Amino acid sequence: MLTDRLFARSARSAGQSADSSPSRWHHGPWWSNSYLLTPLLSILVFLVVMSLILWSLNRREQQQQEDTLYRNVAWAQQQIRLSMTGAQEQLQALARDLVSGRADPHSFQVSTADIMQGHPEILYMNWYTSAQQPRWPNNALPVLGQRLAKPNDQQMDEAVKAAFAEAKNTRRQVYSPLMYDDVGNGYITLQTPVYRDRDFLGTVAAVFSVEGILKRDIPPELSAKYKISIIDINNRELATTSTRPRLPRDAYYDLPLDPPGQGVSVRVYAYPQMTNFTNNTLVWLVAGLSCFVLWSLWSLWKHTRQRFEAQQALYAEAFFRRAMENSVLIGMRVLDMHGRITHVNPAFCRMTGWDESDLVGKNAPFPYWPRDSYPEMQRQLDMTLRGKAPSSGFELRVRRKDGSLFHARLYVSPLIDSSGRQTGWMSSMTDITEPKRAREELAAAHERFTTVLESLDAAVSVLAADEAELLFANRYYRHLFGIRPDGHLELAGGGGFDSSAASSDSIDMVDAFAGLPAAALTEGSADAQEVYVQGIQKWFEVRRQYIQWVDGHLAQMQIATDITTRKQAQELARQQDEKLQFTSRLMTMGEMASSLAHELNQPLAAINNYCSGAVALVKSGRTTPDNLLPVLEKTAQQAVRAGMIIKRIREFVKRSEPKRQATRVADIVADAVGLAEIEARKRRIRIVTDMRQRLPVIYVDPVLIEQVLVNLLKNAAEAMHDARPNAVDPVIRLVVKLDSGFVCLSVVDQGPGVDEATAERLFEPFYSTKSDGMGMGLNICRSIIESHRGRLWVVNNVESDGHITGATFHCSLPIGEPDGPSNGGSEAPTPQTVTGEL
Ligand code: ADP
Repeated sequence: MLTDRLFARSARSAGQSADSSPSRWHHGPWWSNSYLLTPLLSILVFLVVMSLILWSLNRREQQQQEDTLYRNVAWAQQQIRLSMTGAQEQLQALARDLVSGRADPHSFQVSTADIMQGHPEILYMNWYTSAQQPRWPNNALPVLGQRLAKPNDQQMDEAVKAAFAEAKNTRRQVYSPLMYDDVGNGYITLQTPVYRDRDFLGTVAAVFSVEGILKRDIPPELSAKYKISIIDINNRELATTSTRPRLPRDAYYDLPLDPPGQGVSVRVYAYPQMTNFTNNTLVWLVAGLSCFVLWSLWSLWKHTRQRFEAQQALYAEAFFRRAMENSVLIGMRVLDMHGRITHVNPAFCRMTGWDESDLVGKNAPFPYWPRDSYPEMQRQLDMTLRGKAPSSGFELRVRRKDGSLFHARLYVSPLIDSSGRQTGWMSSMTDITEPKRAREELAAAHERFTTVLESLDAAVSVLAADEAELLFANRYYRHLFGIRPDGHLELAGGGGFDSSAASSDSIDMVDAFAGLPAAALTEGSADAQEVYVQGIQKWFEVRRQYIQWVDGHLAQMQIATDITTRKQAQELARQQDEKLQFTSRLMTMGEMASSLAHELNQPLAAINNYCSGAVALVKSGRTTPDNLLPVLEKTAQQAVRAGMIIKRIREFVKRSEPKRQATRVADIVADAVGLAEIEARKRRIRIVTDMRQRLPVIYVDPVLIEQVLVNLLKNAAEAMHDARPNAVDPVIRLVVKLDSGFVCLSVVDQGPGVDEATAERLFEPFYSTKSDGMGMGLNICRSIIESHRGRLWVVNNVESDGHITGATFHCSLPIGEPDGPSNGGSEAPTPQTVTGEL
């Protein structure tokens, strides 16, 4: 919806800015992050500066702590040193008292008690004589005193002895090395030499408790703040102000203690710093704020990114729609709720020829309204604004800017904005001039087609292949059969529609053409088939073809042309042909009548003679049956001969229906030659039959073929007689042989041959070169032979020197039954040299 709004709002301006805008948006989102860099950098700088400040503050604080620590250690050291120095001085004073001799055991005890009171770290004091014997011990700790007094204590001995010796030698106060008791407490002895002039009177020994030193000499405020320990040279802690275990990270500071020296140091540990609340708060505040700012930046970046992506999608969508709108061929127009044009797309402008500026903002009447249709257009506009526009749209005429008109269809739909509120009406306009013209042309073509089909004198019908339903029937079909499918089925050669067969179990025997034998329909060829429809007593030439009907189903189209008249004419012609052939035979006989009479006369005369002779013999009374028998036999022979001639003549002129039958070629040849010889003999021409091959039976009408042969032989004899009446032993040869499935009968004469002009017209009806000729003979011969699916042609007999010695009429007849396999599909031998040799 957002896209729609943006699109609608920017629709008008996008056209101009569409080219430049995408580049702003398609160059990646680098800019979308750059504005985040500044705050990010600021935060980083701020973090770095804050860290530096905090670090320096911390550093300074540490420095201060270290300084304070150092000062305090120095102070502690100073305190201890002062105390020890004070004790040393007091011991020195005691030693002087001993030298002066003023001391006695009591005063020694008092003095030492004073000192020990002032220095509680001193646990034991004594005067050791020069022989190292304790003289006036003053013991704060009896146990220790005992231990110190025990000369057998090796450790004591050694430490004390060493210090004693050193004090004696150096005449200076000497601290002994550290001594330890059973529990690890450390002690140190200060040996103060007592010299009276040069006499060594021994030492005043004072045993210092290291712990005591620590406890006495370290001010409490210091020990409250630090853990202060005294350690020996081996880093062993001799005494400490706190039993708290030392943390490895604790800062400490060592300062050597001198006195007492001997590797003893004071070590001050700084306790872990109490958390600096302000500092920490500041740090956490800064860190928290930085995190918050970073998070804000991140969410801002995320938000911006989403916005950017949404914007990208929006722009892509907008430009896609713009591109679509620009590329569509449908004109689009937007009206506001008051009927004012608020937007037109380029296709609308292209269609109408009006610019966007001519149209946008205009109210009715719009510039593209034809002037003569204002009321109609206004009515359509009112319907649109009332929301009553038909869903099928308006068909209207639109005026282009150049004044020309075109037909258009306008569809209207409400324009709804993203909030679901209708803001206007969106109309889409299509130029239907071309489709309309095409539709009209189609309708006209359809009408023409229907007119032609309807006025055809042929029955055109289409039958559904899966049920006996007539899908189409033209006027002629309806005239003959009504609208029943039976006519189609009858024309298909399958008789009436057999609904029981269609629904019976014998479905395998019939196809989906409900009752029609499958074979009859599946032939489905476009070859014409002649069908006689008994019901209406008409002949039809039927052509069938399977077609895909308009609904995609298989259908059979059938065109049945009425050929009844043609059939009748053919029948008439056939009958006339028969009559003609018969007449022709009669004429031949008529022409041969004198010859035949002469031919018949001979046996009759012979019979007469034989009978007369026999009568004379019988009358003479001298005859015997043996004498008569040969005469009578000869008489009978002559009667048979006469009978044969008559039989042949009778059969030749017998009028019968043409009938094909299996006939031996030899029989036909014998009969034909028998008749023709009568005529030939008159002209002293011999007919020689050359029939060397065994010939098969042929299926012909023997009378007609005989007629052909008689005609050819007769023509040959006439031609030979006319051309060479005085020729010596003229012969006509009748050659019979087999030639590639045909029986070839060739009549070879010795006549003049056939010249080129005659050859072309030879077989025409009524062509004759004879004064008394009818010119029908060869024409009838050819039609007879062709009706037997054979051929008749002529070639000249040409000598090697080019001399023509006669003509040969070839006639070929197929072997086998009329539609049998032996000659099916083969053609009669072609006349090869009809013209070539002429
Ligand atoms: P008609 O014999 O009545 O003339 P045909 O049809 O039998 O009619 O013959 C037509 C013509 O063909 C003849 O007039 C003759 O000129 C020519 N013709 C027929 N047979 C021969 C042949 N064997 N030799 C030469 N010409 C022939």
